[in-house]
Amino acid sequence: MKTVSIIIPCYNEETVLPIYFEAVDKVIAGIEGFQVDFILVNDGSKDKTLDVMKELYRKRNDVNIVNLSRNFGQNPALTAGLASSTSDYVIMMDADLQDPVTMIPKICAKFAEGFEVVNPHRASRQTDTSFKRNTAAFFYRFTNSLEGREILPANVNCFRGLSRRAVDVIMALPEKDRLLVNEIPLVGFKTCQIDFEREKRKAGKSKYNIKKMINYAFDIISSGTTKPLYLPIKVGAVSSGVFFLSSLLLLIFYFLGHYGVLSFDVAPLALFTVISFVLFGIAVLLFFIGLLSIYLHNILINTRDRPTYCIDYIYRKEEKE
Ligand code: UDP
Ligand code: MG
Repeated sequence: MKTVSIIIPCYNEETVLPIYFEAVDKVIAGIEGFQVDFILVNDGSKDKTLDVMKELYRKRNDVNIVNLSRNFGQNPALTAGLASSTSDYVIMMDADLQDPVTMIPKICAKFAEGFEVVNPHRASRQTDTSFKRNTAAFFYRFTNSLEGREILPANVNCFRGLSRRAVDVIMALPEKDRLLVNEIPLVGFKTCQIDFEREKRKAGKSKYNIKKMINYAFDIISSGTTKPLYLPIKVGAVSSGVFFLSSLLLLIFYFLGHYGVLSFDVAPLALFTVISFVLFGIAVLLFFIGLLSIYLHNILINTRDRPTYCIDYIYRKEEKE
């Protein structure tokens, strides 16, 4: 019998966790050939999430708890869960039932067929606002177009099924600030996609506001592709050409004016051109400094080698008294 650990990062999910287990119990009993357990990662919740987890641990024999020392974020929490897993396969999913538990048997069926990376794919995003739908569509198209190939499968997030081999390769990557959506496609292996409809959150609140989502998008792009780093050189080359041509034109106008061919004064035009160039140049430079800072930040995070999460303690199901 193969083992599957379902890894669930939880930050303030006291209301939804009991509902999750009610729902998941209805589907895991029917899975043949796989023994399922759960790794609940408490990501420094401020509500009673940890108490709910301990209650589940006490009542059931298939629950493990990884308690982090404070809130680190979804990706570090998932990484802590992956690092503490020993099963043949893992499934990472959210606590709020937006990733439907009915997908678990389908993912296991794909494992049984020999797939090592299973990507549940949001077939439609009808539960999202049209703003979120459109920005997400643009984001995936933009990121993949930068690299000219698919580095980020569209509408696939951290909800994934992975084999032990895939988990081990990901965990062996030297990156510190892990973004699993970038790292999973990187490892390759036999991969498949299954469509699903993302549901509405069953209880509690989303932890991602617009600011966090924008930061997440920047992180994904900067850790997924280095192509934006070529932008300054391209813009620099084009604007040098434009600058050279306009200087030449101004010079021609000046001489034409000087020899009386042109009747208007070229000085205001020259002043306007120079001021526009300077202001535009400053704006572009600031933009590029910002761009470089994002990449510099990634280098700093990865070289200073600080841990991205800290485990307070682990309760393993085998160690239950
Ligand atoms: N989460 C976490 N740490 C955080 C933020 C979120 O462990 O700092 C968990 C959260 O409890 C949930 C999952 O990550 O299980 C996805 O979060 P959420 O549902 O808020 O994201 P959304 O679905 O709104 O994008
Ligand atoms: Mg959610």
